[in-house]
Amino acid sequence: MCKVDTIHEGSAPVSKEVSRTIPPWPGPVTNNFHKGLSIDGSPQRGYSCVSTATKDSWERLFDEGYRADVSVNTDDGGIIYAHANILGMASPAMKGLLKQSSRFHRQRSISILGVPHDAVRVFIRFLYSSCYEKKEMEEFVVHLLVLSHVYMVPQLKQECEKKLEHGLLTTENVVDIFQLALLCDAPRLSLICHRMILKNFKTVCTTTGWKVMKKSHPALEKELVESMIEEDNRQKERIKKVNERKIYLLLYEAMEALVHIYKDGCQTIGPSDKDFEENQAPCKYVACKGLELLVRHFAGCKLRVPGGCIHCKRMWQLLELHSRLCANSHTCRVPLCRNFKERIKKQSKKDEIRWKMLVKKILRTKRIAGAPFISSAKVSSLWQ
Ligand SMILES: [Zn+2]
Ligand SMILES: [Zn+2]
Ligand SMILES: [Zn+2]
Repeated sequence: MCKVDTIHEGSAPVSKEVSRTIPPWPGPVTNNFHKGLSIDGSPQRGYSCVSTATKDSWERLFDEGYRADVSVNTDDGGIIYAHANILGMASPAMKGLLKQSSRFHRQRSISILGVPHDAVRVFIRFLYSSCYEKKEMEEFVVHLLVLSHVYMVPQLKQECEKKLEHGLLTTENVVDIFQLALLCDAPRLSLICHRMILKNFKTVCTTTGWKVMKKSHPALEKELVESMIEEDNRQKERIKKVNERKIYLLLYEAMEALVHIYKDGCQTIGPSDKDFEENQAPCKYVACKGLELLVRHFAGCKLRVPGGCIHCKRMWQLLELHSRLCANSHTCRVPLCRNFKERIKKQSKKDEIRWKMLVKKILRTKRIAGAPFISSAKVSSLWQ
């Protein structure tokens, strides 16, 4: 007798650091009994390279129980007749079970309890023809997964996993399937469940499956909550990085526009030796407009005392940043470029590190943002 609801627990604990890549499917599973059923290994009817007639006769052999020598006892006193040779060849575990089974005349008897009678029937028919009906799979997928694991039928196990992965897994059943995947040693499925749980955490927490797991496996619940917190932190970190990159790119653009304003002039602002043309083409530097207003304010602000006006303060910072990026201060036309270079020499170590870090990040962000790729040498030349 073999009860399928007594699979050993704790055989595959959930990994704390769940791998982020989903393990691939193993190669096509074919057992020696029915080889190469279809190109993608799917044994559904009509897509197999084994002729329908052959499969039909296998199924008839099962349905009619012609010269059957095994009776399989199921829940509620149900009996399914089968052939020891076929069961034994399709499932190594069944082979062992049959060896130990009781024998009366030429009839053997085994029991598969703990799953519905119809699920056992679908399972055994699969051992004959490697086929199942879509509806049967939908109804018994969980039982078939357990049976295929217990009786070592990898082809069916993979089918169940695929069907769950591609539609049968829902926020309602995911907690149950997750636990089952751990018990049945299905790493790909358990990872997919884990991802689904994290993605729909709030909804999943309200399901019956979750509540039951909380009571029966509090350690597993704790691990899931912890991995949710980790995932949340990772998400926050990602958002923070994206926002930082945006700021670095804006600063880079501001630096480009600053050089352009003081070198070429733009609209109504620029070097004193330049004439302003009427009907100028629109400026190609995105940061120019905002910077133009800032430069104009900086030139006329009455509060130009250190720590005074917020706009002026920003302008000072932009000028200092420019100076740090500028490769040739001697010919540079941006105001205070050389002065800052002198001042930088006297700066404290702490400030020095802070600024260097900022410069490095801006240049790196621009390089990553790419298109068009600007080399460090080219970046430096922008400030000449
Ligand atoms: Zn401009
Ligand atoms: Zn000001
Ligand atoms: Zn400069």
